Amino acid sequence: MLIDLHCHSTASDGALTPQALWAMARERGIALLALTDHDSMAGYLALRDIEDSGLQLVAGVELSCQWQGVNIHVVGLGLDADHPTLIQGLVQQGESREQRARTIGERLAKAGMAGAYEGARRIAGEAVIGRPHFAQFLCEQGHVRQPTEAFDNYLGAGKLGDVKVHWPELSTVIDWINAAGGLAVLAHPIHYRLTNAKLGRLLTEFVTAGGRGMEVVSGTQTQDQTRYMARLSREFGLLASMGSDFHGPETLWRGLGVRALLPEGCTPIWEALQA
Ligand code: AMP
Ligand code: MN
Ligand code: MN
Ligand code: MN
Repeated sequence: MLIDLHCHSTASDGALTPQALWAMARERGIALLALTDHDSMAGYLALRDIEDSGLQLVAGVELSCQWQGVNIHVVGLGLDADHPTLIQGLVQQGESREQRARTIGERLAKAGMAGAYEGARRIAGEAVIGRPHFAQFLCEQGHVRQPTEAFDNYLGAGKLGDVKVHWPELSTVIDWINAAGGLAVLAHPIHYRLTNAKLGRLLTEFVTAGGRGMEVVSGTQTQDQTRYMARLSREFGLLASMGSDFHGPETLWRGLGVRALLPEGCTPIWEALQA
């Protein structure tokens, strides 16, 4: 069985519209799909009324937050998109993103790259704005050749566009997800580049705050990394999730859909999500 519990559409920083993503999932024979746009459920809302016996859609979102100064992503799965606490949280996230984008624009202007906020806003269109939209603008203007170069030089950790936004605390976004009846899943634990000890502390606090799962497989990772994540999921009693973190056909990241196979002893989160 193919599933995907983490991917992006044009409602955030993905390249495909929710409908095109749905069509791709259909074509690939994916059985279970969660669209998890950054801080937005607009893509999910555009798809939720589709009747399709071959492909089950799970309500999803990827929320930005902070824990001990680290920018952490928490995926919410199986949530009620109409819950007022969640809706209010998403409004707040959208406002934080807008404010951050204006500051990024000001900083880039001071460094000689004018009009970046306006450019990124135009590229984002209806989407919640994010650094990838700035990366695309900097490419268009010839300031960089590739989006990755934009992150390396201007937008990535420690660079001028790395504006420390006051994202809510980890426990706050977990509360929003739980209020809306969803399962909170720690996204791509390997990406944070934490020491084993610090990752252990993050997982301890994640569980205490009401987190229920973690991504044992995210995008492309080595077998060793998968085994390590599987061990942590067992140790911390977390449900195991899997997703591609697909952003579009042109990116080098993994394609849509992952085989629903986990190392021994993991408890698949999708068994708790399937109708
Ligand atoms: P933001 O949500 O605005 O903080 O931007 C983070 C997003 O930027 C991630 O979800 C990725 O899609 C993208 N991203 C992060 N690092 C890179 C990179 N080095 N190259 C290209 N895209 C990146
Ligand atoms: Mn992204
Ligand atoms: Mn993420
Ligand atoms: Mn993601």
